[in-house]
Amino acid sequence: MLNLFWEKKRIVVKDSDIYIDNLNENLGKAIEMEFVIALTFREVKVYENNTLIRNFRIEALDTNSGLSDQFLHCSVRILTNSAVMVDGVISKSRLSIPGRTDKEYEALRFQPFFLSNADEKNIQLFGKGLFERGLHFAGSVTPKDVRCICVCDYCKQSFTIQHFHAGFSEVQYFYSSNSREILIVPYDAIKNIPQQLQEIIDLSLLNEVESKLPKTIDGSFRYYNSFKCPHCLSPFIDFEANKKLRPKEYYGNILVNHAPRYWTEPNES
Ligand SMILES: [Zn+2]
Repeated sequence: MLNLFWEKKRIVVKDSDIYIDNLNENLGKAIEMEFVIALTFREVKVYENNTLIRNFRIEALDTNSGLSDQFLHCSVRILTNSAVMVDGVISKSRLSIPGRTDKEYEALRFQPFFLSNADEKNIQLFGKGLFERGLHFAGSVTPKDVRCICVCDYCKQSFTIQHFHAGFSEVQYFYSSNSREILIVPYDAIKNIPQQLQEIIDLSLLNEVESKLPKTIDGSFRYYNSFKCPHCLSPFIDFEANKKLRPKEYYGNILVNHAPRYWTEPNES
């Protein structure tokens, strides 16, 4: 009888934790709600009916390191296919956010995920690119001041990445063996360098290009090196297993607060 008068809320935020009810009448129910989350603990935990399903650590930019007394103004969306999408803007105020063009504008996009009734879709995304994972969208440029918080498919720890649009800059990027480094090379610096969205990659020409690249701290720069989890070094964007993905992943990714390495002619430096 109680259900006639009381419906359990689909999303509740308590302190910095998001609680999602995914039972009974709420299963498959789409909703979008906005919340202000205190970043006191620099993490946002997501629970599905009291089971912890995601823990997003909020890594601060070096330029704004005092996050503990700041707030995340965020939207939490659940789609009918049980996908959960969270994104927001960091603010020093609980009541307002910086404007899109303000110098201090910082936005976060959490890696979308599926609730337990659609968990097989989480597994299908292991090793996939950031477009398939819902962190970037074809035809819409993700602004540079949006940083993404990813969750490793294997160790489940989160890590924050920043990105650049390699196609617009007319550059190719190469991750080092453990993606501790990323090298950025202009198209015109090395003959036959693969361009973004170039579907046919000639492996012998690629070998020649790669032979001209500098040494790295953790192995070698290669076109098909995966972007790896910084905690356990499992492939996150697994280019070695999904080579066809590589030309389409035209955003280069850099761990937060790290700097890319730029190509210099061998006789410079
Ligand atoms: Zn990991």
